[in-house]
This record gives sequence, structure tokens and C-alpha cells, in this order.
Amino acid sequence: MKFAYAFTEKKNLHKLEQKKGKIEVFVKELVDKVEKLTSYKVRPIEYFVLHDFASATKVHSHYPVPAWTTPERGVINFCPEEKRWQNIMKTNVKQLNLPESAERNLLKHYDQWNLDFLLDDVVGHELCHLLEIFENLPDGMDWFEEGLCFYLPRRILSETKKELVKEIYQQEMKLVSYSQRWVKGHFLKDFSAYRTKLHNNLIIFLNDYHLAANATKELVDEIVDGDVREVMQAAEQVSSEIEEPPEQVMKTFIKKLFERFNLDQEKFGSFVRKFRIF
Ligand SMILES: [Zn+2]
Repeated sequence: MKFAYAFTEKKNLHKLEQKKGKIEVFVKELVDKVEKLTSYKVRPIEYFVLHDFASATKVHSHYPVPAWTTPERGVINFCPEEKRWQNIMKTNVKQLNLPESAERNLLKHYDQWNLDFLLDDVVGHELCHLLEIFENLPDGMDWFEEGLCFYLPRRILSETKKELVKEIYQQEMKLVSYSQRWVKGHFLKDFSAYRTKLHNNLIIFLNDYHLAANATKELVDEIVDGDVREVMQAAEQVSSEIEEPPEQVMKTFIKKLFERFNLDQEKFGSFVRKFRIF
């Protein structure tokens, strides 16, 4: 893994370089843990690009958050400026116009977003996009991929910080419910809409990701009893049988998963309704 730097002001280069050592150790250890947990290989990371905030959000991408991965080139891009991340998340909460106490409780959570947290929850997520399984899944399984990329590093983190992981998921679902009047029924069935015209709407962007994370967690932990390896193997097998166009894929996939694990209709129905999968 080589490091590269992208900055708009020369003084930021030094700050980025100082974080390299910690990130390098973290990534190496996490790749091992993810491979052990899943039995899938993580593709080699060719370059890990550290960006300053303007480089990540104005020069090289226009995603609302400054981290993304290009799996076909093995490149992870990440801005390690923790205050910027806190501000993005806090801006999202503030624009929801919530009652003061609800707002305060949500904002408090983001003060924990220091570099260690970003490594666990953001860099961990990005490197999971390099898992080889995702090369074999058909188009249209976006939210399952995103959800799994949240699930795996959080599952590893929960071995040492169980309460924190619980808090992250709860916080996300609170935000989903508070965001409803803004997203107007935008749910998992609309997941990839953010990639087109809605990609720069922060509320919808985060709402989609929080739903994907929570739906995948429920699918793995509550519906299939935590056997993530089995879910991944089933996903690969089931998706090889899917012939539908991308917009139908998740519907068929979830149905086939439920059949495969022989789950009851009621459980299936409530899962589909809760996250409005279709
Ligand atoms: Zn992702």
C-alpha cells in the first residue's frame, strides 16, 4: 500500500503526513480481521490517498462526505480532518430543525468522531468495498454492499466497544425517523437515486446510508443469527441466479435469501415493511 497526498494548501501536507503511520497500521490490522471474519479476500490497496478537505470535496469529488473508494483501481480516498466530519454530521442535524433537547442529544454523539473513530467507522467501511465478493454481485445491490461495508468493521469494533456500536446504530435510526418529513418517503427502495439527481442532498444521502447500515445489521444479526459468512456466501450464490434488471434485483435477492434460510412470511414482511425495501 502506497500513500499519496492531495492538498490545496501546502501547509496541510505536513498535517496529512503526520497521520500516515497510524492509518497504515490500522489498515493492515483491519484487513486481516475482515478476511478472517468473512473468509473473503480484500483486494490489495494500491494507493491510500490522504486529502485535505477542499481537495476531497471540491477538487476530486462532490460527495457530501470526504471518503470514497475506487475498487477497480484499488484506491481509497480519505480526508482525516475530524472537525470537518463532525461539522458535516452536525450540519445535517441542524438543518432538520428539531426540538432543542433532541438536537442536543444528537449533536453530542458527533463529538466522539475523532481520528480513531473515523478509522473504525469510515476507513473500515471504505476498505470493505475492496472485498472480492463485490466483484461478483450484480448491479442493483448497492444498499446491501453499503450496508455490509458498515456492518463488518462495526462487528469487529463491537468486540471492544459494544456500547459505542449500539449507540451508532441507534443514533442513525433516530436520524432516519427525524428526517422523514424532509425526505418525503424516500426509503431503501429508492436507494440508488442519490447517485443521480439527489447525490448532493445531505439529508437524503445520510438517510440512505443509515437505512442501509441498519437493514443489513438486522438481516445478519437478527434474521440469520449473526452468521455473516453464511449471508455473504448465500448472497454470492443467490445473485448468480438473478436475471432481473438492476431495479428489481434487491427484491428478488431478499426474497431468495428468505427462502434459502427458510424464514417465516411474517418476519419477511415486517423486515420489508420496516425498511421499505420494495
Ligand atoms: Zn460505501
